[in-house]
Amino acid sequence: MVLNGPGHVFILSAPSGVGKSTIVKAVLAQDRRLRFSVSSTTRSPRPGETHGVDYYFLSHEAFEKGIEAGRFLEWAEVYGNYYGTDRHLVRTWLAQGLDVLLEIDVQGARKVRAVVPEATTLFILPPSMDVLEERLRRRATDAEDVIQRRLEAAQMEIREAPWYDYLVVNDALEEAVADVAAIIRAARCARLRAHSVLGPFLAFF
Ligand code: 5GP
Repeated sequence: MVLNGPGHVFILSAPSGVGKSTIVKAVLAQDRRLRFSVSSTTRSPRPGETHGVDYYFLSHEAFEKGIEAGRFLEWAEVYGNYYGTDRHLVRTWLAQGLDVLLEIDVQGARKVRAVVPEATTLFILPPSMDVLEERLRRRATDAEDVIQRRLEAAQMEIREAPWYDYLVVNDALEEAVADVAAIIRAARCARLRAHSVLGPFLAFF
């Protein structure tokens, strides 16, 4: 399956509670060339989440059928639920020359990197584990045991952070958004050079 259209793949990961979704929404709002790959999941929607916008909420059966049919570019089990990236969506946007942002965990990030080696990977860190714990409690959507599980999972994910191309600390939201936007711009400029799209320009000199 050919994935390499003219567009570029950006992979963004972060432990639960770091503020990744808020950052992604802000970056997308100011970037007309970037599309968000809406994942499919077997978990239930949280208050305020919309089918087709935040996730495609699927039953286990539908998700497993999707796996069999080769619907997912990658999929992984995270916190006991399945999550997967829609292959067709990503391929269509790349072919149109649009860049695609995948918000996926580290297992998924490694799988996509294996298929799209030139993908740019970003990891968002909390300023500290104490701040992450405070944010998870403030969110007030999880029971105590779930918060503890998320904190343990976060520690494991953070150990993987050195694998990523770029690390962004979400200390202040506006700065984190600006950092992610700047990384995306820098990757586009580097790509322009790497892919010799310069031919038509050089012809004038
Ligand atoms: P949440 O349920 O809190 O939205 O997400 C839980 C975790 O699943 C996060 O680490 C998120 O990055 C990850 N995730 C969301 N969508 C996908 C996906 O399509 N593939 C993979 N591998 N992970 C995903």
